[in-house]
Order: sequence, then C-alpha cells, then structure tokens
Amino acid sequence: MRFKGDKNLGLCMIDNTVFMEKVQDEADKVLPELKKVKDEIGLNPELGSEEEKSSQLLVDLLRGHGFEVEYPFFGMHTAFKAVKKGKESGPVIAICAEYDALPGVGHGCGHNIIGTAGVGGGIAVSKLLDDLPGEVWVIGTPAEEGHGPYGGSKVRMAEQGVFDGVDVSYMIHPMTGTSMVTGNFLAVSGITLKFKGKTAHAAADAHNGQNALNAAVLTYMAIHANRQQLRRDANPVVHGIITEGGLANNIIPDKAVLRFGVRSSDDTYVPELVEMVVNSAKGSALATGCELKYTVSSGLKSNLPNDGLEKLFIKVFEALDHEYTDPVAVAKMPPGGSTDFADVTHVVPGIHPMIGLAQEEMAMHSKEFADVTMTPEGDKGLEVGVKALAMATVELLTNPEMLAEIKAEFEKRRLK
Ligand SMILES: [Zn+2]
Ligand SMILES: [Zn+2]
Repeated sequence: MRFKGDKNLGLCMIDNTVFMEKVQDEADKVLPELKKVKDEIGLNPELGSEEEKSSQLLVDLLRGHGFEVEYPFFGMHTAFKAVKKGKESGPVIAICAEYDALPGVGHGCGHNIIGTAGVGGGIAVSKLLDDLPGEVWVIGTPAEEGHGPYGGSKVRMAEQGVFDGVDVSYMIHPMTGTSMVTGNFLAVSGITLKFKGKTAHAAADAHNGQNALNAAVLTYMAIHANRQQLRRDANPVVHGIITEGGLANNIIPDKAVLRFGVRSSDDTYVPELVEMVVNSAKGSALATGCELKYTVSSGLKSNLPNDGLEKLFIKVFEALDHEYTDPVAVAKMPPGGSTDFADVTHVVPGIHPMIGLAQEEMAMHSKEFADVTMTPEGDKGLEVGVKALAMATVELLTNPEMLAEIKAEFEKRRLK
C-alpha cells in the first residue's frame, strides 16, 4: 500500500524543477559506476576500522568526479572528507557515508549501499554546482558497527568539530520492508565486565579456587531477574554475551568476561540501566569471592527528530513515486536499533531515512540481507538512495526558506 503524503507542503519557494530533473539524469549517468563499487565492496566486506579497500574505492570515485578529498581524515586512515564548492557561498550540506561490514555476515547491514549512495548523491549534485550556491560534502565515517579503534566514529566527529559550518547532514540506510523517511533510534551504552578468580583442580582442589565463570553466570541471571522492573515507557533493551568462561572443564576458571549493551529511547535512563548491570556484577563478585573490573563506553545518543527534514524527504519520495510508511505510524513503532548518526543530529539538523529493499520477512544483520544488497533489489535501493539524497540537497541549495525553518526547528528542539 502506498501512503499518500501531503503534496501541497508549501515549502518550495523557488522553482527548481529544472535542477530536480537534471540531478536525476546525473544520478542515472553515474549509477553504473556506483553499482560496480557497491558490488565490489559487498564481495569484499571489511570490518570497522579496517575498511582500507572500501574507502579507497569511494575516494577514487569522488576524486574522479572532481571532489577535493582529504584522505586519511580526522586521524583515521579509513575516513575521508570530500568537498565540492558551488558558484558562490551558500548552504553546506554534508552527506555521511558508511562502508564497514559485520563479522560473520559481511554486509548484513547493507553499508555497501550506504557508502555508494552517499557518494553517488554527492556526485550527482556536484554536476550542477556551476549554477548553484553552497557546498556539498561527503564524509566517510568508519566503523559505524563499533568494531575497532574508530568504533562509532561519528560520535567523535560530532563532538570534535567535523560538522562545524554544516547546515544540514543526512545519509540513507537500507532496510527490509517499506521505506521510512526517518527511523527512531535508541541511545546505547556498552559495558564490559571482567571477573578475576583463582584456578584450582575442579575436583581435587575445588575448595581452593574462586570460580569466575560462576560470577559471570550469576551476573547474567541477576540481569535477567531485573528485566521485569524496567521502565517499559523508555523502550529498554538489555542484551549480552559471555565471551570468556574458562579453558578446560577440569580447571576452576580464573577469568570470565561478559559484554552487555543497554539501550533506551530515553537518554537519561541509560545510566540507570548501566548501574543495574554493574550492580548485578558487583553482587555476583561478592557472592563468588571474585574481583570485578568493568568499563562503560561513552555510547550513542538517541536521534533528535526534525519535522522539516521529514517533510523534505516525504517530498522527495513522492517525487520519485517511492512507497514509504506514514511517519505517524513510524513514530508509534517501538524503536529498535541505534546509530552513531544520532549524535550528529544533536550538533546539526540531521535525518536518517531508511530505504526498503527486501519486502519479505528477513532479519537485518543477516547473511540473507547481505545477499539482497547484491541483487536487482539492492541496485534499486541504491538508485532510490542516490536520487533521494541528491534531490534533497538540490532542494536545500535552492530553497533558503525551507532551510531556515529546518534550522530554527533544530535550535528549538535542542534547547528543550
Ligand atoms: Zn547495523
Ligand atoms: Zn547499519
């Protein structure tokens, strides 16, 4: 079913019809190159902080189309910043690109599409910049999935001024099901718990040991016991694994490690969830005579919404005749995932539309979804992503009143 949005949004103050058509033609011209790179990245998945080939492919594309590219960028060898300037100063639009894969499932989150769609959107707009004011940036942001030293790179980029001077930032992300103009993202923090006990023969000398695995199992179960009392209105999610729990069954384990993630739509609830997890571990350490050491990651924020940017992408999806779910219905859905792009939405107005690829029931972060990115459905998602990003950018470069509204809304929400 196609949701019919309001076609009379009254937002377009300048007739930019010619530019809108031209930018789609430019997108069509670059699509064969983009598809090739999308598939190459898809066939050679690289984990976060190790995306050497993927970032190089995207940088080569941008340089080949006349962008000034800083690479490496921000002290990260797989990050980049590409800039193309218009005929005069004006709005600065930063499109974010991701290109990291997941262990075991390759591009099961479809970041091969995100990277090429971001780069393609930038390239399509760049072909019009002799006639338009402003600047288009494409920022290559490593390790969105959190792997390695660059994990959640956008958090540090947002904190440390990479988005200074940017008027609006966005990116697209593929998904299963029907597209959305925006997603709801949860704040998240990661906790690593390490127990130190004492080894001993598991039968003959067990009374001389301190069992770190028992501390880990008790922690796991204590966290389970707390779930019933969590605030349901805050959409809490607590998920964890035991990554180390001994070396042989005839030795009392002296080391056990757990990794937990805690998420909520209420950023202020996350520290309480962290405390619940840590207290469960402290109690278990006491119960087993083990020593506990733990670390808590700085985490990711939930996203700051922007109605003006939602309207912009509704307009773009309508113009592309692309089906999307009613944003009112999306707002009522329980949020599921998290993204480091949410931190960007707290420093500049930002939005993260989701492009539906596979219509059948399918899990994200799966091998099946990685496979879909390599099919004609994946190609179609790339095309929609490129055009949506390009058209949204043309709109913002030609419609100062819409941009002013988006920025004013951002300042108002930010103050709350
Ligand atoms: Zn993911
Ligand atoms: Zn993702």
